[in-house]
Order: sequence, then structure tokens, then C-alpha cells
Amino acid sequence: MTYDTIIIGAGPAGLSAALHLAFHQRSVLLIDRRTGPLPFTLTPLYNVPGFDHERGVDIIKRMEKQALSAGAKLERGNVVSVVGKAGEFSLQLENGNTYQAQTLLLATGVARYHPLVDGDYQPFLKYAAKGNTYYCPDCESPELLGKHIVVIGVGSATSAVAEALPLLEFASSIRLLLTGGTEIRPEYEEKRLKHNMDIIIGTISSIEGSRGQISALILADGTKVTADGFYISSPKFPRNQLALQLGLETTERGHIKTGWRGQTKLTSKPDGEWFEGVWAAGDVQPQTQQVSIATGSGNIAAVMIDQYLQKTKPRKLG
Ligand SMILES: Cc1cc2nc3c(=O)[nH]c(=O)nc-3n(C[C@H](O)[C@H](O)[C@H](O)COP(=O)(O)OP(=O)(O)OC[C@H]3O[C@@H](n4cnc5c(N)ncnc54)[C@H](O)[C@@H]3O)c2cc1C
Repeated sequence: MTYDTIIIGAGPAGLSAALHLAFHQRSVLLIDRRTGPLPFTLTPLYNVPGFDHERGVDIIKRMEKQALSAGAKLERGNVVSVVGKAGEFSLQLENGNTYQAQTLLLATGVARYHPLVDGDYQPFLKYAAKGNTYYCPDCESPELLGKHIVVIGVGSATSAVAEALPLLEFASSIRLLLTGGTEIRPEYEEKRLKHNMDIIIGTISSIEGSRGQISALILADGTKVTADGFYISSPKFPRNQLALQLGLETTERGHIKTGWRGQTKLTSKPDGEWFEGVWAAGDVQPQTQQVSIATGSGNIAAVMIDQYLQKTKPRKLG
């Protein structure tokens, strides 16, 4: 069977698009490998309209339930290749399964690095978004009100200072634990000193804590770092591999370049000439990374996909 639309990524962007398309009686397949943040977020989100202090995992479950009830299908798997053109796209999963679609929506999000514990990122997953760790300044800063915070710099030290500065509006104090780069650009070093942000340099060898709540980080030299909360400053990489396979243009930081309705363009084509049949939505676009923005962009892309299909494949349902 050839689906009207295959959506790669069942985060807020993909699920919002699937809901709109399935409600409009389009055949929609979501394919997702479950590496987005929300299924693992056990802390509440405070800025998602309609979800009052609900945990990330519960929000995504409800969005998924709603899209599937409307008629969308969901396949768990990792899409490793995509080829084709409007009307005849073909996707292959890691397990060898292949699927065909008239149109595609790329809603693959961004990948983040977690701090390493004794050289391995996995021990940190017990705490990531489970208690007193924070990742998103635009979403979570108010949660730091009155708290003593350690910003863990996983990548560049300059980025750690840049991300720490706006947190100062809420936090009582901020220290930086630099586990990656240690060089800070002079203009940021000046700001760090102005705001009395002390620096600790070291690598984490173990974590003390329970039920997702970190009580102390133990560094390789034996130093014990305690705080009320730990903000993670880490590099983010748009998951753009499939876009690159299709020849889509990306920004300097690797986000898929889109029009405001999620239209994509080929690197080989001039500006304003959109690539027929492929849209992108959510964090993989160059935009602020928030649930409501992702769902909004998924919705507008779905409206555009439906309007496109009205021309190529009218429903004649009435
Ligand atoms: C710890 C944390 C806390 C946050 N808190 C908030 C908050 O309080 N409020 C707020 O508004 N936002 C918050 N955010 C941001 C919010 O979670 C994201 O903006 C949102 O999830 C983006 O949705 P998305 O659908 O674009 O991408 P994602 O949610 O990342 O979903 C993308 C999906 O695509 C799948 N995928 C990618 N590539 C493939 C492939 N090749 N094959 C199959 N599947 C694939 C992934 O597995 C993933 O499930 C937080 C983020 C983090 C990390």
C-alpha cells in the first residue's frame, strides 16, 4: 500500500500532524524509534496549554492515543533510508521493512548529549528529566527560582556560560562544572566574573542520589559537588540524516531549512522553489524548541500536506 503521508518521528510535531491528517481521512503512518525526550520525562511541564502540570511521559501518551484514535498508524522502528519523489517515496527501516508514501513529513527532532559518568552517558539517564536536572532554559528557568544551581558544561565552556546567564534571573547562585571544554571566550569570561560564577573543572566518576533526584556528583579527584539542581548545557544536533539523503538544504547548525509552513527545498534549487511532497516540523526546523511550537508547526505542515493531496488525490467522500 502507498500511504498518503508517512511521518518520521512521533514526538509532539509528528503526532499533531498525524492527528490532523487522520481526522481528514488521509492514510497516515507514523514511524518512530522512541529516542525523543518526552517518553523519558518524569518531571511536570508547566507551559503546555491544556496539560496542567502534567509529566512529559503522560503528555506524549495522550497525544499518541488521540492520533491513533483518529486513525493514524504507528510503527516502532528506525528509518535508515529514504528515496523518491512526490507520489512515490520509499523508506527502509533498520529491520529491513519498506514503506511507500505520496508525501513525507520529517519530524525527527534534535539529539542531545548527556553528561558522562566514568566515560559513559548511560548512568546519567537514571536522572535525566527525572527530578532535579534541567535541559531547556526557555521552558524550565522559572523552576530554578531561589535554587543553588550547578550548570554542567558537557561541550563548550563558552556555551555553558552563555546558557547560565539567563538562568541567573531565577537561580540564587550558579556554579559551572566544566566536564568538556574549558576555554571561555573573553567577553563571556568577563560576564562570568561579573556574576560571580565559580568554576569547577573535572569529570564525573559517580552520582549519589535516588528516585531521579541527584544529591551529589562525585568527581574523579574525589570532589563532591552538591546543589539544589543541575542544569545540563550540551551540544544539540538536529536529526537531519534523512533530509540530507533527499538532498534537502540545512542551516549552518544542521536544522532543515523550511518555509514558515514547513516546506523544504533542495540544495540544488534556488530560494523560493520548494521541494514537492516533503515537509518538516518541530525541533528539526530552525526554531525555539518547545512542545507547543512543535505541535503548531506539525499542524501547519499537515494542513499544507492535506491541501496538496486535495489536488493530487481528491477524497470524493461526500
Ligand atoms: C529534558 C527536557 C525537558 C523539556 N521540557 C520542556 C518543557 O517543560 N516545555 C516545553 O515546551 N518543551 C520542553 N522540552 C522541549 C520539547 O520536549 C521539544 O521541543 C519537543 O519534544 C520537540 O518535539 P518534536 O516532535 O519536534 O521532536 P521530538 O520530541 O524529539 O521527537 C522526534 C521523534 O523522532 C524520532 N526519530 C528521529 N529520527 C528517527 C528515525 N530515523 N527513525 C524513526 N524515528 C526517528 C525520535 O525517536 C523521536 O521520538 C524539553 C526537552 C527536554 C530534553
